[in-house]
Amino acid sequence: MSARDCIFCKIASGEIPATRVYDDEVCIAFNDLNPEAPTHILIVPREHLDSLDHADRDQKKMLGHLLYTAAQIAREKHFAHDGYRVVINTNADGGQTIFHLHVHLLAGRPFTFPPG
Ligand code: 5GP
Ligand code: ZN
Repeated sequence: MSARDCIFCKIASGEIPATRVYDDEVCIAFNDLNPEAPTHILIVPREHLDSLDHADRDQKKMLGHLLYTAAQIAREKHFAHDGYRVVINTNADGGQTIFHLHVHLLAGRPFTFPPG
């Protein structure tokens, strides 16, 4: 998947609309189009990376930034105390469908484990 054809790159650049909940110089966060929970936010690095499987040591800081952003959004939106789920689907068995790395932040209902 090249960055040119990537839907999340287009959302990051503003070419395709999305309901943004947060953005900074490293990442953007917006509501999932087909939410699996009352709150379902995607946290996406501005830099195109196909998946977590493509991360190298240069991306360690960015990866930490994505998780910290999830925690910050959870606190600011006041669902941190009740709880939430953070998910990174990776490659085929991981259920990844969009090949631009993203963190799912889900909240607003209880989640079971292990997931299906
Ligand atoms: P994955 O299955 O790759 O982990 O997750 C991709 C997610 O992106 C899915 O939850 C899907 O609903 C969401 N998604 C796909 N296309 C769009 C879109 O155009 N806009 C938004 N906001 N979410 C999308
Ligand atoms: Zn991309």
